[in-house]
Amino acid sequence: MTQRDDDKNEPKAADPFAGLTIDFGGGDSANGNSGGPVSFGAPIAFNAPPTAVELPRAKRPGAGGPNDGGDRDEHRTKLLIIGSGPAGLTAAIYASRANLEPIVLAGVVPGGQLMITSDVENYPGFPEGILGPELMAKFREQAERFGSRIYDVDVERVDFSERPFRIWARGIEYRADSVVVATGASALWLGLESETRLRGRGVSACATCDGFFFRDKEIAVVGGGDTALEEATYLTRFASKVHLLHRRDSFRASKIMVDRAYDNPKIEVHTNISVEEVLGGAKVEGLRLRNIATNDLTDVPMEGLFIAIGYRPNTEVFRDWLDVDEKGYLVVHDETGSKVDGVFIAGDVHDHRYRQAVTAAGDGCKAAIDAERWLEAQGISEATTATAW
Ligand SMILES: Cc1cc2nc3c(=O)[nH]c(=O)nc-3n(C[C@H](O)[C@H](O)[C@H](O)COP(=O)(O)OP(=O)(O)OC[C@H]3O[C@@H](n4cnc5c(N)ncnc54)[C@H](O)[C@@H]3O)c2cc1C
Repeated sequence: MTQRDDDKNEPKAADPFAGLTIDFGGGDSANGNSGGPVSFGAPIAFNAPPTAVELPRAKRPGAGGPNDGGDRDEHRTKLLIIGSGPAGLTAAIYASRANLEPIVLAGVVPGGQLMITSDVENYPGFPEGILGPELMAKFREQAERFGSRIYDVDVERVDFSERPFRIWARGIEYRADSVVVATGASALWLGLESETRLRGRGVSACATCDGFFFRDKEIAVVGGGDTALEEATYLTRFASKVHLLHRRDSFRASKIMVDRAYDNPKIEVHTNISVEEVLGGAKVEGLRLRNIATNDLTDVPMEGLFIAIGYRPNTEVFRDWLDVDEKGYLVVHDETGSKVDGVFIAGDVHDHRYRQAVTAAGDGCKAAIDAERWLEAQGISEATTATAW
């Protein structure tokens, strides 16, 4: 049975666009000068093959550069992207579709933070959710499809003093007319083997991302700063009880946040307590806690553990060249720019406010567009048309 026959026999789904009209006329609706609405009542063929049209090509002035022509240099590029999380790979997708043939130095742990989580349910386009590593594999495949060259190496040193910029990784020197820094931030962990084993199985470092999975469960949050108290309070929306575990007897967090935690009937605060072990085989089932004052160990049942002891932005390599804030994150100028002309910044490496895959990806898109426009203004790349994006 062909698809078409099949369609005839199957009951039809309701047309989601029924009654919708779209103005394709290009008129100025603000002045009431509409080109006339087109109704979706009549079927529109979207899959008719495009007609091939041969247009004469002229080489634009200013085109060229090291990657033009057949023999491209493997270590020379118009745009080099450092990092392969959502920000870096989105920048790569956009840059490769604009024919920049970017090089991505992906890091020795490519894919970024989503590689250490299981279900991602808030990334648009995946209504059933998707596993973090699977999502990042798709990002990478899409970037490679358009010609990104991706090497799984860590950048050890950069020299942004003159152009082309120089970037070193595993003994190889790369040269680039422009750079996107998208090295993200790393969540800090307690360092327990059991914690690593149960990551994505009840252990998390992101309440916004994973809180939803802990509806009506009894869970713990570790930490004593503002983030820990914020996360504990946020998690009470889902959990039946949140135990806030802190190693010291006083909190680094602001008084208002501490008061809010103590006042919240769903939060139980425990000071002088450290987590010695996360218990459970396939998922978190309990915690082994140490009372720091008495040294006593106690096993308690628990269904989840959030580590909220901070993040380390991956910025060491850039500190001699780019501005960092008091927390060590890169500082952006004018959306995605940096203090070095031609060096752009995207994702969690500067953003400690939103810290989400979708915001990092959006940033990667913006950085690639900004880099492309900058290269064009320098006469290094050809002017792109709007359709390149
Ligand atoms: C446990 C957990 C669960 C999460 N769940 C969700 C979720 O469900 N939904 C959501 O939207 N967000 C989630 N997040 C947040 C999300 O993962 C981040 O916001 C996002 O990954 C940031 O993307 P990024 O590209 O800026 O940086 P990252 O993902 O951190 O990627 C940075 C990349 O840079 C590389 N790198 C670092 N240093 C160097 C170097 N010197 N040279 C070369 N490469 C380098 C790293 O190897 C990595 O590949 C979660 C985070 C965690 C920790």
